[in-house]
Amino acid sequence: MSPEEFRASGHQVVDWIADYLRDVREYPVLAQTTPGALIASLPPSGPDRGEPMEAILEDFRKLILPGITHWNHPRFFAYFSISGSGPGILGEMLAAALNVNHMLWKTSPAATELEQVTLGWLRQWLGLPGEFFGIIHDTASTSTMHAILAAREAAAPQARLTGEFPALVLYTSEHANSSVDKAALAVGVGLSHIRHIACDDQFRMRPEALESQIEADLAAGLTPFCVVPTVGTTSTSSIDPVARVGEVARGFGLWMHVDAAYAGPAAVLEEFRHILDGAAQADSLVVNPHKWLFTPVDLSVLYLKRPEVMRRAVSLAEVPPYLASNDQAVNLTEYSVQLGRRFRSLKLWFVLRYYGREGIAAVLREQMRVAAELTGTIPRDERFEIAAPTLFSLVCFRYRGSDEENRELLDRINATGRAFLSGTQLHGRFVLRLAIGNLAASREDVMETWELVRSLAPVPTDHGSVPPGSASPA
Ligand SMILES: *Cc1c(COP(=O)(O)O)cnc(C)c1O
Repeated sequence: MSPEEFRASGHQVVDWIADYLRDVREYPVLAQTTPGALIASLPPSGPDRGEPMEAILEDFRKLILPGITHWNHPRFFAYFSISGSGPGILGEMLAAALNVNHMLWKTSPAATELEQVTLGWLRQWLGLPGEFFGIIHDTASTSTMHAILAAREAAAPQARLTGEFPALVLYTSEHANSSVDKAALAVGVGLSHIRHIACDDQFRMRPEALESQIEADLAAGLTPFCVVPTVGTTSTSSIDPVARVGEVARGFGLWMHVDAAYAGPAAVLEEFRHILDGAAQADSLVVNPHKWLFTPVDLSVLYLKRPEVMRRAVSLAEVPPYLASNDQAVNLTEYSVQLGRRFRSLKLWFVLRYYGREGIAAVLREQMRVAAELTGTIPRDERFEIAAPTLFSLVCFRYRGSDEENRELLDRINATGRAFLSGTQLHGRFVLRLAIGNLAASREDVMETWELVRSLAPVPTDHGSVPPGSASPA
C-alpha cells in the first residue's frame, strides 16, 4: 500500500470513526442477527487476487457492522460497560502504526519505559505503595494467571525445575470471577483444590470461614498457597474485607492477590480510597483500565510487590542466546510468560493525560451518583426490588416474580435493541444487572432505560401476572 493510498483510505477510516462515535446511538445495542449469518454471507475461501480498500471498507459497513454488539453504545449496560474513548482510540492507532515489540528494553526503550511511567502514575492515583511494580497484560485473566504462578513459585520453588509440587490449595470467594479458577487451573491447581469460601448476606468473603477452611486443609495434609479476595465482584460489585483476609493470609504465609479488575479505578476518588484498604499488604493486585478507565480493549495491569518472585517464576535455566542482553534496564519479557508485547501503554498514557485525574474522578463520581439515584428510584415501582447493595456503578434488581418472568423480561428488553442488560444468580434467584460505565452514558440514558424496563414488565392482576402486550383476562 503506497503512502498516498494509505493517506486516502486513512482519512476515510478516521471520518467513519468520528461519525460512528457521534451516531452510535442509532445502532441497535445488541446485534440483531442469528448464528451463522455472517459466515453464510462471506466467501468460503479467501481471494486469489488482492481487492481494493474501497470494496473491503464497503463490506465492513454492509456485512460486519450488523453483526456487531455495540459496546460503545451509551445504553450498553450489560456485564461491565466500557468505553473506547477518543484519546484511547488515537493511541491504539499510533501503536498499530509503530508496530513495535518491546520484549526487551532495546527492542523499544520508550515502550518499555512508558509502561513503567503510566503504571507509576496510575499506582499513585490508586494510593498503592511505591514498591508495587506494574506490568501490562491483555486481560485480568492473564494478569491473575501470572499472579498465581508467582504464588506457586513462592510456595513451591522446586516446581519450576521438577514440575512436581505438593497439593496446592487456592482460596477465593463464591462470588469471585471465573477467571480466578481458570488461572489456577492453568498453573496446575486441581479444580477440587480451589475453595470458594462462603460469603455473608452482602456477598463478601467471610474471613472466619477462610481461616477454618485453611486449617482443615492443613490438617488434611494439603498445601494452602494463595488467597484471592475481590474488590468489586462481577455479580454485585461487593467488596471482600481485604485487610482481614490479608491478616489471615499472612498468618498462614500465603500469597494474597487482589482482584480489583472492575472497581479498582474508583480508588482514584478520595472518597473511595478506602476500597483498597488492606491492598498495600497484598503481594499482587490486578486492575483493568479497559474496563472502567476508558481505555480500549485490551489492557490489564498487574502490580507486584516482589517482582523478583515473578521473574524467578518464569525464568529458564539458561537465557536463549538470541535473547541475551546486558542492558542495565528492565526487560519486560523476563516478568511474563509471553515473549512479544504490544505497545499498550501508549493508549493508557493518552487517556490519563487527556482526562487527567480530576477528569476521570468526575466521570466515575457522576456514574456512581446516577447508579445511586436509580437504586432509589427502582423500589418506587412496587413490582421491583433492589437485589444487592449498590456500591459503585452497578445496580442489581429484580421483578418481584418468578425467575422465569425475570428472564423473559430481560429477553424482551434486549430484543428491543434500545438497551442491553445482563443477569446473574443471587441467593439462588435470577436478578437483572444494569452496569453504568460508558463515557457517553447520561442520566437520561439510564432513566429512560429504566422506563423501558417498567414498560416491558408484567402487570400483576388478581389472577396472576400479565405480560405486556397480551390481552387481559376478561
Ligand atoms: C471482568 C473481570 C475479570 C476478567 O477480566 P478480563 O480482562 O476479561 O479477563 C476478572 N475479575 C473481575 C472482578 C472482573 O470484573
